[in-house]
Amino acid sequence: MAVEPFDAVQLIAAKRDGGALTTPQIDWLVEAYTRGYVADSQMSALAMAILLNGMSRQEIRDLTMAMVASGERLDFSGLGKPTADKHSTGGVGDKITLPLMPLVACFDVAVPQLSGRGLGHTGGTLDKLESIPGWRASLTNDEVFAQLAGPVGGVICAAGAGLAPADKKLYALRDTTGTVEAIPLIASSIMSKKIAEGTGVLVLDVKFGSGAFMSDVAKARELAQTMVELGTDAGVATSALLTDMNVPLGRTIGNANEVRESVEVLAGGGPADVVELTVALAREMLTLAGKPDADVEAALADGRAMDRWRAFVTAQGGDPDAALPEPRETHTVVAPNAGVLTRQDALAFGVAAWRLGAGRARQEDPVVHAAGIELHAKPGDAVAAGQPLFTLAADDAARFERALEALDGAWAVGVASDHTASPLVVERIGA
Ligand code: URA
Repeated sequence: MAVEPFDAVQLIAAKRDGGALTTPQIDWLVEAYTRGYVADSQMSALAMAILLNGMSRQEIRDLTMAMVASGERLDFSGLGKPTADKHSTGGVGDKITLPLMPLVACFDVAVPQLSGRGLGHTGGTLDKLESIPGWRASLTNDEVFAQLAGPVGGVICAAGAGLAPADKKLYALRDTTGTVEAIPLIASSIMSKKIAEGTGVLVLDVKFGSGAFMSDVAKARELAQTMVELGTDAGVATSALLTDMNVPLGRTIGNANEVRESVEVLAGGGPADVVELTVALAREMLTLAGKPDADVEAALADGRAMDRWRAFVTAQGGDPDAALPEPRETHTVVAPNAGVLTRQDALAFGVAAWRLGAGRARQEDPVVHAAGIELHAKPGDAVAAGQPLFTLAADDAARFERALEALDGAWAVGVASDHTASPLVVERIGA
């Protein structure tokens, strides 16, 4: 039997007492945990020590690169063109990946958007796309490469199990031990997958506010800075936009309804906030990819981005003209009086959409593609008494009661002076 170079208990105790772990120690911990020698109980104790005591920049970098080394690393250098990806820390109504991928791909920058499914109140890109009849999320590495090299020039698909398997194991453990919230662990988890994915450019959409992973802007900034440093250290041109997630993005929350709204953006229309964020992220990706003068607005207006979208959906087995699932039941809430919509809380609307069936509580649960919420008014809009404010959609009317409970106090119609407009993109964080 091979002799192990370290003792897990000693390393846990060192971290518990505020010490720093060395590169060989972290390499061993991650490797021994992936092969099952370090136990889940020991890794949870270590994760809690990290949550309480933090990690140095060197330790976070070592943890990230050890998780990258636990699996395969894709290499797109043979494509002969730049690659750029975007990662969002997740929000309510966040469908930006759908219009963004085809938009950026119009400028001969390949977009390998390897994505996940939703858990809890934030939606997942793959769940949304699976509303399109026939569309397929699982591609082999060869199919990904061929689609990036070919006329589509972009892909949105499930991240394969081969990327950063140590992170998969550790993330599942953190989920059940109250250790998700540690910035070193979040940053290394996200960045290990993105570095392993092999993108040359990465733009992070780090959200703050009630519907975001981090409600506090200072914490979101720290997370963004940590991730930008990790990407840069690993040779990926990385930047981040800090964006407001106190209010749902756009006018739809769900799956099929978010696809419809994304198609509106690709047709040159769509809600102003969705367009603003899509354009801001596309510019950032293209600038880092060496194309600062790309006219992204023109590509939305003249149909080029729509053509790419249609080619993408078709390439992955979907029919871009197919009807999307429609809900069996709807329930509309109207304004009780005339005034201005002053409040629309992202978390509450996200939880309500989840309770309607648009999201899942466990990774293996299915989602109801037609379930969700349509927002007829946004904060700052004047409304008349009796005017529809939002419509809930579900496959079963019994779901409305718990969704409405989540929305209790989450919206308000008041006077204009009670509403202050906040900017959507508040800061750019570069290397
Ligand atoms: N998303 C991830 O991939 N990892 C985290 O730790 C948190 C969010």
